[in-house]
Amino acid sequence: MNFTTSDKISVQKIEKSRINEVDFDNLTFGKDFSDHMFECDYINGEWVHPTIRPYGPLTISPAAKVFHYGQAVFEGMKAYKDANGKVFLFRPDQNHARINKSAKRMAIPEFPKDIFFEALHKLIDLDRDWVKPGNGNSLYIRPFVMATQEGVSASPSDQYKFMILLSPVNAYYTGDVKVVVAEEYSRSANGGVGAAKAAGNYGAQFYPTNLAREKGFQQVIWTDANEHKYLEEAGTMNVFFRINDTLYTAPTSDRILDGITRKSVIALAKKDNIPVEERPILVSEIVEASKNGTLKEIFGAGTAAVISPVSTFNYKDVTYELPPTAGGYSTKFKKELTDIQYNISEDPFGWRYEV
Ligand SMILES: *Cc1c(COP(=O)(O)O)cnc(C)c1O
Repeated sequence: MNFTTSDKISVQKIEKSRINEVDFDNLTFGKDFSDHMFECDYINGEWVHPTIRPYGPLTISPAAKVFHYGQAVFEGMKAYKDANGKVFLFRPDQNHARINKSAKRMAIPEFPKDIFFEALHKLIDLDRDWVKPGNGNSLYIRPFVMATQEGVSASPSDQYKFMILLSPVNAYYTGDVKVVVAEEYSRSANGGVGAAKAAGNYGAQFYPTNLAREKGFQQVIWTDANEHKYLEEAGTMNVFFRINDTLYTAPTSDRILDGITRKSVIALAKKDNIPVEERPILVSEIVEASKNGTLKEIFGAGTAAVISPVSTFNYKDVTYELPPTAGGYSTKFKKELTDIQYNISEDPFGWRYEV
C-alpha cells in the first residue's frame, strides 16, 4: 500500500522526551501518551494550521459544542514494530475512510486523506521509539474530531479540531470473556448512529455495561432494538459465531459498526475455505446450537484485543458454556492477523503499510 501525503504540517519538537518515565512492560491500555500529538483546525470552511507539537492540554471554550451536543467522532488503529525495527500500520486507508463516514453522519466536515497520511508518517516517525517490538506490543493511535465552536445554540459547529494521539499498549488480555445478551437496553437503532464511531455511542453503553458487570459479565452483546431477537455486536467489537465449521456474523447496517478486524477475518476465512455467512443471527438459534453441541465458538473481533474468545454467554438468566477454544478459529485468526501485522508472514492482501 502507498498513499500520497501532503507536506503541510509544521513540527514543534519536544525538548526532553518522557519515554524513560514509562514502564513499557506494565502499561494500562490507553493511559500513557507519547511525546507528540497532531492537531488541525477547521475554520471558515477549511482545514488549516496542521501542526505536530508536544502532547499536552488544550485550551477550549467551555461553551464549545462538543461539550453540549456531543458532536465528536474517533478512530482506533495501531502501529506494530517487526524484529528489524520496521514499523507498520494495518489497513490505515480503511480508518481514514471510516472517520469520514462517521464525520458525515455527525455533520462534521471530512478530513483530507493527504494530511491524514502525512500526520501519521510524521508523528510516528518522531515517536518511533515508543513503538516496542514483540507480539502484543503496539502503539495505539487515536485520531478524533470535535466541535470547537463557542456557543450553546443547538446547531452544527462551524469550527472543529482534528487530533491524533499515540498511546503505547501491551497485549490486551481480556481473559475469559463472559457476556450477556441484551434484553432491555439498546446500543443503536435503525436510522441512528450505530454505524458511526461517534463518541456518544460509548457513553451510552457505560450504564448498561456497569449493570452487566455487577452481575459478573464483562461485556454485553447487543441485540436489535425492535425485538431483542437478533445478535448484533459487542459495542467495541464485532462478534462471530461458529456453528459446526461455519462462521456466522451479523451483516453491517446503520446499526452495526463496519469493523476492519471483522472484514479481515471474513477475508482470511474465505481464503482458507472456511464457510462464512453474513446474515441476521437469531439469539434462539445460538441457544439451540449451544444445547445440541454444534456451537463451537463465539469471539469478538476489534483492533484493541484483535480476537477475544467468549467463554460463556447468558440469556434470560441462563448461562451457556462454550467449549475450550484451543485450536479453534479464534486462535487461528488471531495468529494469522498478528503475523501479518508484525511482518512475520506474507501479506497476501496488501494490508501492511510501512511508516
Ligand atoms: C471500533 C469498533 C469496532 C471494531 O472495529 P475495528 O475496525 O475492527 O477496530 C466494533 N464495534 C464498534 C461499535 C466499534 O466502535
